[in-house]
Amino acid sequence: MIDIIDAWLRLSATRVHDQSPALTALDQAIGDGDHGTNMDRGLKAIVASLEAGPPEGDGDLAVAGARLRTAGRTLISTVGGAAGPLYGTALMRAGGAVTGASPGTSSTDALVAALDAAIGGISSLGKSSAGEKTMLDALMPALEAGRQALAAGGDAAAVTKAIADAAEAGAAATIPMLATKGRASYLGERSIGHQDPGATSSALLLRTLADVVAGAGA
Ligand code: ADP
Ligand code: MG
Repeated sequence: MIDIIDAWLRLSATRVHDQSPALTALDQAIGDGDHGTNMDRGLKAIVASLEAGPPEGDGDLAVAGARLRTAGRTLISTVGGAAGPLYGTALMRAGGAVTGASPGTSSTDALVAALDAAIGGISSLGKSSAGEKTMLDALMPALEAGRQALAAGGDAAAVTKAIADAAEAGAAATIPMLATKGRASYLGERSIGHQDPGATSSALLLRTLADVVAGAGA
């Protein structure tokens, strides 16, 4: 699991860097135009923290969970605005879920539990829920699809692909939504017709996870 998490964080940093102008352009339309640079700065700091080597921990799940919690703290301390604390809390909660999973839990089960915990962290910090044109509109359908794929007996590659597909569909589905949380809500009706930047970065992160898992053959 730690191998998947580290590879995911590294590839996410590369892809977020490449997509930074596109994320910023989305945020220029309905926010303040910093989402790409925010995410780029945060992921760069996370990758720098990986150089310290794997964290201490008793077993793979404990080590992977500790890595996610450190990544979350790094985001909170390096990224201002809404997304830093929201994604940072999400990663810290995800790490807590992975560490707290009972020994022998599969990576696939742990990843779905981590996504569930991440969503809980975002919705409690952001006081937000589905349909408000935020990152949750990518993450919540992704979790639902992941649970269904898991129940259908899917392996890690199938489950993370279902998660990524649903997240991308969820991000696209934010276009006609009226924003009621975050900066975009200041625009009222003018927020309609634009894809939410945070939902877009969430879909990017989850597609990256699916690609890493597929490549790892996990
Ligand atoms: P800021 O809005 O402070 O400039 P960013 O531009 O980095 O921060 O991130 C904006 C994204 O954060 C939005 O596109 C949205 O997805 C997400 N967001 C903002 N507020 C909330 C909230 N209360 N709950 C969930 N997500 C939120
Ligand atoms: Mg912004």
